[in-house]
Amino acid sequence: MNHKSGFVNILGNPNVGKSTIMNALVGEKLSIISPKAQTTRHRIMGIVNGENFQIVYSDTPGILRPRYKLQETMMHSVNSALSDADLILYITDVTEQTADQGEYIDKIKASGVPVIIAVNKIDLTNQGVLEKIVESWHLAFPQSPVIPVSALNNFNLRALLDAVLEKLPESPPYFPKDQLTDKYERFFASEIIREKILLHYKKEIPYSVEIEIESFSEEKNITRIRALIHVARDSQKGIIIGHNGNMLKRVGTEARKDIEDFFRKKIFLELYVKVTKDWRDKPAVLKRFGYR
Ligand code: GDP
Ligand code: MG
Repeated sequence: MNHKSGFVNILGNPNVGKSTIMNALVGEKLSIISPKAQTTRHRIMGIVNGENFQIVYSDTPGILRPRYKLQETMMHSVNSALSDADLILYITDVTEQTADQGEYIDKIKASGVPVIIAVNKIDLTNQGVLEKIVESWHLAFPQSPVIPVSALNNFNLRALLDAVLEKLPESPPYFPKDQLTDKYERFFASEIIREKILLHYKKEIPYSVEIEIESFSEEKNITRIRALIHVARDSQKGIIIGHNGNMLKRVGTEARKDIEDFFRKKIFLELYVKVTKDWRDKPAVLKRFGYR
C-alpha cells in the first residue's frame, strides 16, 4: 500500500465533543509525536502515525457561539479551517439539527473538501431517533459517510478512524514519524503567526500572505525566531504594518505569547514584512514555501 498522509480539520459547534473525539482518535493505539499543546485560543494538533499513514488532526477554534457572534467571524474561522484541510471531520451530536446549520453546511460543501460526519453522544438517545438523525445528515451530505459514535464510551471510533484512512490522500508523511524536530517546531510557529494574520486583517490580505521562518535558534532560556511575512504586492506591505507599525506590533505580541504557551518557553520573535511580488504565481517561490 502506498503511504497516506494529510491534514484533517475537526469542525463543529461548541460542546459537541470535538476535543473528546480528537483525544480518543489520537490515543487510539499508535504513537503520538505531538505534545498536543493546547491553549484556549489556538489550534490543537494531534498526529497519529501508522506504518502506512500519518494523520495530522487539528481541532480548530471552530465556530464560536454562532448564534450570537457576527456571521462574518463564523465564516472566517470556517474559511481558514477549509483552506488548509485535506479532509473535514464535521462533528455534530444527537441534540443538534441539520436545519440549524444551513449556512455552515453550504460553505463546507462549496469548498469541495471531502467531509466525514460524526454524530456523537449516541449514548444519550435511542435507535429510532438516531436513525432519523443519521438520515438527515445523509440528505445534507450525500457524498459523505455519516458515522454514529459515542466518544465518552469509546463506541465506534474505530469505524471513524477507518473512514478517515479511507479518505486520506496518498502522500509522504509531513512530519518525522518518531521525533520532534526543529522543522516541526518551525511549522507550528509559522501557523501561529498565520493565525494572527487571519484574525486581524480583512479580505484578501490573509490569503496573500506566506510566513517563512528565516531563523530559529534555541538557546538555553530563550528561543529566537525570525519570521518573514511575504506579501504579494507593495500596497499590502503598508496594510500589514499599519499606522505607526501598530498592526504588526499587535500580531507580533499575540503570536509571541501563543508561541510561548505552545513551547512553554520564552520566545524572542522578530517579524519582517517583505514584498515577494506575485509569489502565488511563481513556481520557484511556491516550491521554496513547500507547496508542490
Ligand atoms: P467540544 O467543545 O466540541 O470540544 O466538546 P468537548 O469535547 O469539550 O465535550 C463537551 C462535553 O460533552 C463534555 O462534557 C464531554 O464530556 C461531553 N461528551 C463528549 N462526548 C460525549 C459522548 O459521547 N456522550 C456524552 N454523553 N457526552 C459526551
Ligand atoms: Mg474543544
